[in-house]
Amino acid sequence: MRKVSFLVLILSCMFMGSCNTGKKITGQQRPADKSARDYVTIDEAIAAVRVPESVAPFVAEPGGTKELPRSFSPPYRSVKPVKLFDNLYFVGTNTVGSFIIDSGDGLVMIDTGIGDTDISMMVEDMKKIGLDPSKIKLILITHEHFDHYGGVSYLKKNVCPDAKVAMSLTGWNMLQTVPSEWAYISTRPQSVDIFLYDGMRLKVGNEVFRIVATPGHSPGCLSFIFPVTDDKEPHMAGIMGGSAVWPTQTETKLYKASIEYFKAFAEEAKCDVGLAVHSTDKDFERVHTRKQGEPNPLIIGVAGFDTIYLKKYRERYLQMMNSGKITPYNPL
Ligand SMILES: [Zn+2]
Repeated sequence: MRKVSFLVLILSCMFMGSCNTGKKITGQQRPADKSARDYVTIDEAIAAVRVPESVAPFVAEPGGTKELPRSFSPPYRSVKPVKLFDNLYFVGTNTVGSFIIDSGDGLVMIDTGIGDTDISMMVEDMKKIGLDPSKIKLILITHEHFDHYGGVSYLKKNVCPDAKVAMSLTGWNMLQTVPSEWAYISTRPQSVDIFLYDGMRLKVGNEVFRIVATPGHSPGCLSFIFPVTDDKEPHMAGIMGGSAVWPTQTETKLYKASIEYFKAFAEEAKCDVGLAVHSTDKDFERVHTRKQGEPNPLIIGVAGFDTIYLKKYRERYLQMMNSGKITPYNPL
């Protein structure tokens, strides 16, 4: 009998929420948790998903080309490496490049080129602008195409063995299971440490990267938002993960939806700098010729992010829609 009374008391306590005062603590009365934060660290992100058990095994491409498209083939020409903001740099070639963010505690590299040939050039170019490539702490892959992940293996083997590699789970699984879009042409990353997910905020050093899923250019395509400073003045940069639109119903329409989805995040973050994964010398010409005291030409304003930067992506979508190239949707 006493045992039953004790059990009733325990259960009452559980439903009441508190045994000490008998008062119910509501959400509003609960003291604010000072330690609450909205980001995860690299270590927390690594711990969140145990990669070896969660990814599909490597599957070799059945048939399919191993040849690089001509426009992506060597020899490559280096784009003049450039410091774009106090904490942001670009190195690349005539085909594709990498943005590098100095987090205050290691470097973050966004995308890695096609393979050994161009990434080794980009590594040398980093040194020319005072960056130590061995300090790369995190590699963020925008999407699962050969010209974005191709340099990961070279970097891990020769440059920054401890760097963590991060991409979307969809992108990683596409790499291993779907032999499409030249997915196996260049050396694939052998492992991924972090799976990036939509809405994630990943903290590295002093910077928090916002991850936005923007499928369309590829299923696992991600876009990023992160802070930059220009002569210590804070700004917010946004980078759409993919550029080209493919002539299929699903991909083309997803592409458009993703532009508007990214816009919502960019507006919330007040993005006023728009960056492109396939940047060329021309994109940074005005940065090179900028004189002391002149405004940074990459700052286009919060309205400009939509009306100038995202507009270009919308135009690509419209161009494809109007091209007559889109294959009819036929699921059967
Ligand atoms: Zn791509």
